[in-house]
Amino acid sequence: MYKPTLGIIGGGQLGSMLAVAANKLEIKTIIFCDDIDAPAQNFSNEFICGQYDDQEKIAAFASKVDVITYEFENIPYETLNRINKIKPVLPKPSINKVIQHRLAEKDFINKLNIRTTKYVSVEKRSEIESVKDLLPGLLKTVTLGYDGKGQYPINNIDDLDSLDIDYTKGYILEKLVKLKKEISIIITRFGDQKYEVYEPIENVHEDQILKHSKIPAEINDKILKQSKLWAIQIAEELKYIGTLCVEFFIDKNDNLFVNEIAPRVHNSGHLTINAYNISQFENHIRAICQLEQISLKKINDARMLNIIGDQINIYRNKKFLSNEFFFDYLKKEIKNKRKMGHLTILNN
Ligand code: AMP
Repeated sequence: MYKPTLGIIGGGQLGSMLAVAANKLEIKTIIFCDDIDAPAQNFSNEFICGQYDDQEKIAAFASKVDVITYEFENIPYETLNRINKIKPVLPKPSINKVIQHRLAEKDFINKLNIRTTKYVSVEKRSEIESVKDLLPGLLKTVTLGYDGKGQYPINNIDDLDSLDIDYTKGYILEKLVKLKKEISIIITRFGDQKYEVYEPIENVHEDQILKHSKIPAEINDKILKQSKLWAIQIAEELKYIGTLCVEFFIDKNDNLFVNEIAPRVHNSGHLTINAYNISQFENHIRAICQLEQISLKKINDARMLNIIGDQINIYRNKKFLSNEFFFDYLKKEIKNKRKMGHLTILNN
């Protein structure tokens, strides 16, 4: 059977786990990354190190593969679009364009009649002063923020005095949701009305970084069904191919809100590697390489713990039980708040 060669842009842990899943499917991978120490090169067949705007290197990379995917969404649209003219890029660059911009993303979700928190575009301070009902809120850069980066909690207008905000960057002010819990849905779409949806995953964040995830999520039936339906609706509307994650908030009154969409495999789905017959990574590759769609089966309930910063040193010297699966991301440098690995524990 014909097996395409897969190009992956980005060489972090998601790239690594995609390459591992590709190996299992006997699909060759080439990683393109701007970091010479990119961990994913340990698992890929080939590694090309180059800047994302180095057109010559990117073209050489594209010429060697049949289909290209990416592990992070902050690649400039122009770059992805240029590559897409050489070889198909999945998910489509046009999807990435909408989702990497917080305002365009929220407008898109609201047009589908799916609830998000209230928000407003902010280009100058006076705009915040005129929407006081959105306070307390979070001011976020419209692009390039993740894990709480580029986010400022604003409880009242005076808070702005002590913050050094460069308004030329473009911001969104979101009303703070009084969180009861957070969940995510991972869905892999293969084509029209063809998808595999994982059950909702319950997520706990600390300092806006994912700390742990678990299945089953402790949520009511209505939220379970609604979150799945909204994720399917979003994936269908985008005509998405591959694995997508929709992150949700649940407020104290059990209202469900979409927080954001990640057009890629997602940290909260790492437990699918051990808890399901097919992981989110394998499913992504199956979808974008047009391989067989296999029905999902949960093997075990599970929880996943992110290992952040120098905690990794403890885990590197630890012994694990047979139901514990430790993943070291093999990052050269340990940094504060950096995701260094994770541990998945299957419930016995
Ligand atoms: P984000 O990068 O936008 O996904 O934000 C990271 C985390 O910050 C979320 O998972 C929440 O825990 C928290 N957060 C972000 N936006 C809001 C909001 N509007 N209301 C409450 N919590 C939020």
